Amino acid sequence: MRTSSKRRPTHHRDRGTMHHTAPEQPADVVARLRATFRTGRTKPAAWRTGQLRSLRAMLTEHDGELVAALHEDLGKSSYEAYRTEIDFTIREIDHTLDHLADWLRPEPAPVPPHLAGATAWTQYDPLGVVLVIAPWNYPAQLLLAPMVGALASGNAVVAKPSELAPATSAALARLLPRYLDTDAVAVVEGGVPETTALLAERFDHIFYTGNATVGRIVMAAAARHLTPVTLELGGKSPVFVDRDTDPDAVAARLAAGKFLNAGQTCVAPDYVLTDPRTARALEPALTRAVEALYGSDPAASDAYGRIVNERHFDRLTALLGSGRAVTGGDGDRATKYIAPTVLADVDPGAPVMQEEIFGPILPIVTVPGLDEAIAFINDRDKPLALYAFTGSEETRRRLASETSSGGLGFGLPLAHLTVSDLPFGGVGESGMGRYHGRYSIETFSHRKAVLEGPSA
Ligand code: NAD
Repeated sequence: MRTSSKRRPTHHRDRGTMHHTAPEQPADVVARLRATFRTGRTKPAAWRTGQLRSLRAMLTEHDGELVAALHEDLGKSSYEAYRTEIDFTIREIDHTLDHLADWLRPEPAPVPPHLAGATAWTQYDPLGVVLVIAPWNYPAQLLLAPMVGALASGNAVVAKPSELAPATSAALARLLPRYLDTDAVAVVEGGVPETTALLAERFDHIFYTGNATVGRIVMAAAARHLTPVTLELGGKSPVFVDRDTDPDAVAARLAAGKFLNAGQTCVAPDYVLTDPRTARALEPALTRAVEALYGSDPAASDAYGRIVNERHFDRLTALLGSGRAVTGGDGDRATKYIAPTVLADVDPGAPVMQEEIFGPILPIVTVPGLDEAIAFINDRDKPLALYAFTGSEETRRRLASETSSGGLGFGLPLAHLTVSDLPFGGVGESGMGRYHGRYSIETFSHRKAVLEGPSA
């Protein structure tokens, strides 16, 4: 395991010189951070806002390094890297800095008549030492945005970036200790063995983003210590397209949401549910939309990303035969390129409909109408996001009240997660817990009940 810290040489007295320090073991990392937490150093508002400002400075002073790393790991264009990782995190920091004092203000609670004269309120207490485990698809944002909430709540943090985005992991492990309080924040790089070793330790909260299989491992490990978890998972996020919509307008927004980061987005539209006539109109419209975004040869477009590794490339290419390719359908293993692909006439039993696609393949499944679409959605795991394009108020109302999903977006795929005042998180198989903005404070704090009786 590699842990990184910019700690002054004097702090290394007990572990040898700067150059011969043995790697710090997980138990030592946690004990060191817990000792800092116990001093109360992370509690004052000034420490919290100081950490957030430093994190912001890291993002603005080293944006080039991070953009290069994201390009190396995922072929992300710099536009995408800024929009979805760097600027996204800066916005989260700014929103938190703007409102933190307000959010942390104790909230008075009315007291019942038999306690007349007493005062009651709730206050947020930091939890202690928090573990943040991030995935590879937005490897900077999904490590840093939870950290914003954890630090703003006054916690010490162990940050575990994804080993599947090695350039970004290395950049963050190098940069974070130069900006944050290394007695309270540690970056631990590594894969399964390192994460398993970390999970053996007792944390006060574990915030995990990734797939549901590992989510179960994380939750089982947390249960041994009765540690609460937030699980930000994924799943198949459906898009219902109503017959009263403009195919070109729908296709433009759908393609932009689906093919961002080559489809490797947890809230990406996974598949389209629509009636056969609308499907026929959407097919050419989606072809036009892909061309408008990436030109006639997306492989040559700087704006289009790549698949993270060969394993995922092979998994995705095996799904390309699940329907009739309206556009795309090809790929190149050497460059991990898979064309933005739309599959029509897809049977619900086809391989592409069995698990989260997490890549640039958009199947269109037809249903007779809204009733069947709602039944189709409710027959499956609760998705992280549900999207719908419809002009009908009644349809919107029915989808909102008759289905359950982490988030619900009408007309704008992905956009709900950029609203800082909305909670972001899943339900059922798509996860538990929520964060962003003030919801991060709820996640990373304990809301303590306090009663102050009249003096005795
Ligand atoms: P990943 O493979 O990078 O794994 C995520 C983290 O889990 C990594 O840090 C990894 O080291 C760790 N890990 C992997 N195997 C482990 C094990 N056996 N024990 C302990 N830790 C382990 O990322 P992934 O899971 O492939 O990410 C993709 C999934 O994440 C998709 O399902 C996607 O929908 C979901 N996702 C959800 C969100 C969200 O915010 N809800 C965001 C992004 C991705």
